[in-house]
Amino acid sequence: MSQDSHRRKKVQICSTSPGYPVYCPKCNSTNVLIFYDPRFTPRLQTKWDNMIDEKRILLENRWEKIKNENRWGKSEKDSEKPNWICKDCYDGGIIVEQPIDKKIAEEFQKYEKTFTDNSQPLYWNGHAQKVTLKKIHDYANTGECSVVLIAVTRQPYNSDRFPEYRISLQDVVKTDTIYYGWWPDTKNNKVEYDRLYTINSTEKNESQRHVNLHDYMNDGLAQKMALIIDKDGKWHIQNNEKL
Ligand SMILES: [Zn+2]
Repeated sequence: MSQDSHRRKKVQICSTSPGYPVYCPKCNSTNVLIFYDPRFTPRLQTKWDNMIDEKRILLENRWEKIKNENRWGKSEKDSEKPNWICKDCYDGGIIVEQPIDKKIAEEFQKYEKTFTDNSQPLYWNGHAQKVTLKKIHDYANTGECSVVLIAVTRQPYNSDRFPEYRISLQDVVKTDTIYYGWWPDTKNNKVEYDRLYTINSTEKNESQRHVNLHDYMNDGLAQKMALIIDKDGKWHIQNNEKL
């Protein structure tokens, strides 16, 4: 399919289908329509089409965030945003630019100079804030039980691929909670850049399944291990039995 064949003009409004699943923030349906008001500046529409194609967008439905947007003729020139509506729950709002990838890349640059293969592992949450393993455990909300941290990738990071990792996690493991981690690979004297998520089951079969789930995102390589984190943030390694 060509880039433009999935964009169709409707009678009044111009709608766009991104060609990948976009999730309604209210009901999680993918039956979401993105559209431009007829008053939308055409020049800006191209810019937004590109951002949508590159998965650099967020669906915003909070009233306090959207009430001042798209007040045609009143709001600042060129500040208009595309709109979206969910055809299942009829919630809707505006499309905003995903600011996180930029923030994560900035955080990485900050620590890059000092992190070596002798450093302690570092972790960030999906809002580009540094987190401890204890925080990651607590956020999973398992009480006294341990959680398992699973890495999706371990190549040098490429911030252009961040959206792809996010989408993949939504599709494959149905989670929006992504972590970014740096792991000192003392054996190979290098730093691993990981995208990670947690699972609540410490069942061996389940973690074993997850470490082999993302080879296709990782140049065909399965993960070497998972980290089991207990309620105090202490961790141990569970090796991938298949390797
Ligand atoms: Zn919905």
